[in-house]
Amino acid sequence: MARILVVEDEAKIARFIELELSHEGYEVDKAEDGRAGLELALAHDYDLILLDIMLPQISGMEVLRRLRREKATPVILLTARDAIMDKVAGLDAGADDYITKPFAIEELLARIRVSLKRRNSSAAHVATEALVSHGVSLDVDRHEVSVGGEPVELTNREFEILHALMAEPGIVQTRDKLASAALGYDYIGESNVIDVYIRQLRSKIDDRFGVKLITTVRGVGYVIRD
Ligand code: CA
Repeated sequence: MARILVVEDEAKIARFIELELSHEGYEVDKAEDGRAGLELALAHDYDLILLDIMLPQISGMEVLRRLRREKATPVILLTARDAIMDKVAGLDAGADDYITKPFAIEELLARIRVSLKRRNSSAAHVATEALVSHGVSLDVDRHEVSVGGEPVELTNREFEILHALMAEPGIVQTRDKLASAALGYDYIGESNVIDVYIRQLRSKIDDRFGVKLITTVRGVGYVIRD
């Protein structure tokens, strides 16, 4: 059975998660601060880590950064409701997902199943041609984006969102749909992190190269028009 590390300083929450996960048959280890969490995460090969961001000793974000230098263990961040920039920074630092506290246990269990499944499934590879729009070229196989031959550095999530938009030119993508594309599962809920990613994409592409690539459809989402 999968072995999960829970790094959470609030004892009640940690205990609750431990009980629920054990009940589901997972093997659970706990750490109460960032330092202990990082030590355990590096010492053992966990299948998944639930990582609180606000932690004593070393913050969750720093634990994630240090972990990623050594290991690709899937990480789900536990974040506060309004911490949008934490979520974006966490995803960019290599978290697989985040869940907002307080959460329903069913929601957490569903996310855990997705993360574990994604880890075990090796994606079938199909070669595809580069997508081109407004002079912006996105090569899925090479995971590269360029404008007029000049490479653009994107994070994985920025790339996935741009890919979703460019794959269906003229079709308005809702925030939920883009969140699903970026996070890799059917996302329902708060998707305001998408606005942050769109801002980053615009600064890296639209502003830098003077193109009008991504159009906002007020109240709905985003589209790349032909
Ligand atoms: Ca905390």
